Amino acid sequence: MARYTKDSIDRVKDAVDMVQLVGARSDLRRSGTRWMGLCPFHDEHTPSFSVDADQKLYHCFGCGAAGDAIRFVEVTEGLDFPGAVEMLADRYGVELQREEEDPQAEARRRRRERLLQLVERTAAYYERYLWESSEAASTREYLAGRGLGEEVLRAFRIGYAPSPWDRVSVAAQRDGFHTDELVAAGLAQPGRRGGFYDRFRGRIMFPLADARGRVLGFGARSVTEGQRPKYINTAENSLYHKGRQLFGIDRARGAAAKKGRIVAVEGYTDVLALHQGGVEESVAIMGTALTQEQLAELSRAAGSLYLALDADSAGQEAMLRAARGARERRVELRVVGMPDGADPAELVARDGVEAFEELLARAVTVPEFEVRRVLAESNRSDPVARDRALSDLLPILESVDANSVLRGHLMALVADKLDVPPENLHAQLEGAGRGAARRRFGGGDGAPNGAGARGAEPAPSVEAVARAEREFLSMCVADATHGREYLGRLDDDHFSSAALRRVRDHLIEHFDAPLSELPHDDPALAAAVTDVVMRGEEEHASGEALRLTFLQLELQRVKRQLRHAERDGDLERQRELWPVRESVRLQIDELMGQTL
Ligand SMILES: [Zn+2]
Repeated sequence: MARYTKDSIDRVKDAVDMVQLVGARSDLRRSGTRWMGLCPFHDEHTPSFSVDADQKLYHCFGCGAAGDAIRFVEVTEGLDFPGAVEMLADRYGVELQREEEDPQAEARRRRRERLLQLVERTAAYYERYLWESSEAASTREYLAGRGLGEEVLRAFRIGYAPSPWDRVSVAAQRDGFHTDELVAAGLAQPGRRGGFYDRFRGRIMFPLADARGRVLGFGARSVTEGQRPKYINTAENSLYHKGRQLFGIDRARGAAAKKGRIVAVEGYTDVLALHQGGVEESVAIMGTALTQEQLAELSRAAGSLYLALDADSAGQEAMLRAARGARERRVELRVVGMPDGADPAELVARDGVEAFEELLARAVTVPEFEVRRVLAESNRSDPVARDRALSDLLPILESVDANSVLRGHLMALVADKLDVPPENLHAQLEGAGRGAARRRFGGGDGAPNGAGARGAEPAPSVEAVARAEREFLSMCVADATHGREYLGRLDDDHFSSAALRRVRDHLIEHFDAPLSELPHDDPALAAAVTDVVMRGEEEHASGEALRLTFLQLELQRVKRQLRHAERDGDLERQRELWPVRESVRLQIDELMGQTL
């Protein structure tokens, strides 16, 4: 699909009223040249969220959220970049232009638009048929009997496919669509004896839309006893990809952005029941296996993902797989403990939405979920079984950051339930940790990690180190005279993450106007740069402060090199590095002595 021209995107940005746009999400008050308000992205009671109306940027000093108008719409509306541009263009009356397309690409885009139209009008047709036809009368009763009101059914555009063979195909052809388009959109299929017939007949229709609400395909449920299979979907085609689909994402993303969480359930009716009950940040993954693409979409919608899947083993296995993907995407994953044999729709129908809300409130992190599962399954009166449980639990505990509150919480839980003295548990974990740490660091880079850190001095947490690095970059921005020079002195080894290395590169390249050329294809980098620069504008860095912070980064760098040398058993390198470390420490002490 052709991209919008840079000129179009600039015109959109020019047209945006930043205070009005952000003001819809947070009450803003003028404060000097900025506008301040409560951050829409994290919970707070004193405003630390600032909007620069001229530069059209936002920045939170609390959580570091930052970006321009387009980014703001991407995050608050759960849209991708082109989607956010289109929404703003629409709202501020800017006409968008696409880059020149080659004729083939243009033909593909036009065909896609035709198919979207076809699916959209078919959705409208099914919808009308549900509410107006006598054939669907028993289905209307059935849905009402499940406790689903007309309002929620209409909001989700639930429909009914008529049972005759070719009702949809005939109507679409009458309106100028070709049979090959009907087949391409997954609505018709060729018959064995020639001709075409409708794929969906005599079923409840659930339109499957993308985040912007464009219907791409359908899920269809049988209404009669003998009708098999119970569920069918649109077959994979150029519009609809099962692995990418989340039922209800278009209706959930607003609520998800506001509440900071999104709830994933298995089925269509679960979503309908939860929306009706006010848990509007719910979507269905339509099955138990959460794909990487779904996870990407979910992580765009909110920072926390609550998984409320069946308590059966398939559901549990799916959660653990999801956990691995979530860690990579930096989504906080919580597991909702569903009662055996009840899905959310049944639970809400039986005990009300409060019962589900309560489960949400009690949702636990993945390691805690795993620990509780092992504990629940083990026979604690049998010493052999207790030992086995313990050996199952150690790797789980070990996977949790050693200095975290969670690790302490889980250790206490295990010690209590298995009746093991906490010191024993610590000792066992220590032993397990050494072996695992060696395995994990074999040839990789030795980032500070609790399990791997030995020796007298505890390593500072990953986050504290990253914070110091970021602050230093802000100080470089604040002090134009020395900042540029210090930026040049930072090499890759001064940073614990690639992200901040790239911020440094951006600052060096655009030192005089770092915010004017933010990279659009990389929102994470754009946000990180904006965060660093806006913090820098608040900062009053002196030459000494810069020097001191630089030395602290220098110290971290030498320690990092030392850890690598220790890991590799390179004693010679260690001997080289020890005096360097001492000299940096000495310089820090001297400087502190002067400033104190
Ligand atoms: Zn914030």
